[in-house]
Amino acid sequence: MTKIVIIGGVAGGASAAARARRLSETAEIIVLERGEFVSFANCGLPYHISGEIEARDALLLQTPESFRHRFNVDVRVFNEVIAIDKHRKEVTVRRVLTGEIYLESYDKLLLSPGASPVKPPIPGINSHYVFSLRNIPDMDQILSSLLLNQPQHATVVGGGFIGLEMVEALHHLGIKVTLLELSDQVMAPVDREMANMLHQKLVEKGVDLRLNTGLAAVTELEIQPAEPEATGEYDKQIEHTNTLELMLSTGEMLKTGLVVLAIGVKPETMLANQAGIELGARGGIKVDARMCTSDPDIFAVGDVVETEDFVTALPSLVPLAGPANRQGRIAADNMLGRREIYRRTQGTSICKLFDMAIGSTGLNEKTLKRLKLPYEKIYVHTASHASYYPGAHPVTLKLLFNPTDGEILGAQAAGLDGVDKRIDVLAVAQRARMSVYTLQDLELTYAPPFGSARDVVNQAGMVASNILKGDEAVCHSEELLLGASDQIVLDVRNPPELEASGTFPNAINIPLDQLRQRLHELPKDKEILVACQVGLRGHVACRMLIQHGFKARNLTGGFKTYQMVTTKF
Ligand code: FAD
Repeated sequence: MTKIVIIGGVAGGASAAARARRLSETAEIIVLERGEFVSFANCGLPYHISGEIEARDALLLQTPESFRHRFNVDVRVFNEVIAIDKHRKEVTVRRVLTGEIYLESYDKLLLSPGASPVKPPIPGINSHYVFSLRNIPDMDQILSSLLLNQPQHATVVGGGFIGLEMVEALHHLGIKVTLLELSDQVMAPVDREMANMLHQKLVEKGVDLRLNTGLAAVTELEIQPAEPEATGEYDKQIEHTNTLELMLSTGEMLKTGLVVLAIGVKPETMLANQAGIELGARGGIKVDARMCTSDPDIFAVGDVVETEDFVTALPSLVPLAGPANRQGRIAADNMLGRREIYRRTQGTSICKLFDMAIGSTGLNEKTLKRLKLPYEKIYVHTASHASYYPGAHPVTLKLLFNPTDGEILGAQAAGLDGVDKRIDVLAVAQRARMSVYTLQDLELTYAPPFGSARDVVNQAGMVASNILKGDEAVCHSEELLLGASDQIVLDVRNPPELEASGTFPNAINIPLDQLRQRLHELPKDKEILVACQVGLRGHVACRMLIQHGFKARNLTGGFKTYQMVTTKF
């Protein structure tokens, strides 16, 4: 009988425990969780704060009792593992409520302790009004602070998934929000021009977005609450709800009622490190494809481990629920003698921001540049479903691919509708090692309410394949900005569009439908950078120009992408 001990009872740990029982009725399975809850929906926490998920209980997917009844797993909450002895194959456990210490032996040990929110050593960071959000108690504390202090202003520090979800949640509650982000963009997994769509949305919703701005210090203000008896109005007490003064990295001061810190997470490796388990280059636990650590009887999964990046095979830290769940299942298989392999992480993710979604899979352009990997990129802005059927919105899709063989390197999409579907299709295509050529052939569902006969993904595949086949050369907004003397910019949109949307600097305007008659106006000794609104008419114009002996390249994504690239927030 194998005795499996699991540290951490949420995403990775709970999946492993359930899988282990499905594989073995005889194994002894113990889950040690230092918190009060196991198997809770951490991804749902911001939505309970906003009130969109009304019932707190909806976040509790399993309890120790339900786990015991269904899976015969011994789940011990409020039990923290404080040491691992890999030679004696036992862990030291502290009962959190009593302080009592005991030893528990194991045959196989699984580490799924997750990652903890980064809390930089900023003066005043330990204030009662500064919160992180990782678990149910964190959520409860934020909710009670909201209830007790009724802040009219809150500050979210960090524009990643959790930061953005908290901005939306607080906004939903009618609280004015400032978002501080140290870099020049929110949502690090996508590139800056794609994140600009989020910046636009945040500003549109009245969020005070401050990019290139960090938190430098926190000071609690001395509050003199009005006496309810004296004023006779209880509500007067909450006029002074700005309980904090923040110093920002720019030197500015900001009064606020509550701070949510969401500047990232770091793997909880202390236990593993102290036990002499090898860590990797990125600071997570190093595991092989079986999720086994440097000790053959100790496995690790979830936010605490480094896995190989899908494209580069370089070690990566990807704190997402999908990988944690799948790894938990694989680790359980391997602990019970099977041989299952975890096949790298793509980092497929999505985030909702108000009525918008932004998602990505694979590598982004920033990373490709940093690693000096060859890539080409295209943008399409294609309707989420037949544009004549109500409710269609453009999906802005950026596709990154290998310019030699068309390997899909990464994809990012944003819009009001249909983003999840396109990123999911592209994540599958990437995992199946399809090239951009194959994207043209994908036969996807179509009826007017759902898609188009030529889906966004097909469209992206066609545009990318045109480049690979030499049917079209593209240029990018960055090149247009250079204004090289041996190039001219030809805008083939109709004049009313220029008035409505804006113009490219120093561009000649010849609408596409007049181009064939006005070719003589264009120079043959200069390269023509052709541009339209989204790239489609530019392609038609380019094909015409090339066949008439001109040297031409099409601006991928057209003016819409140009605006995304050039707008500063
Ligand atoms: P966790 O689920 O964090 O579980 C680790 C558990 O181990 C914790 O309960 C901890 O108390 C316990 N533990 C740690 N040390 C010890 C110890 N020494 N002894 C005993 N117990 C210990 N991912 C997505 O893919 N999509 C989302 O939309 C999404 N939204 C999120 C929203 C929020 C607010 C948060 C916090 C996370 C979100 N994530 C999301 C990330 C996702 O939840 C994590 O990637 C996933 O939970 C990681 O699983 P894990 O098992 O590694 O760690």
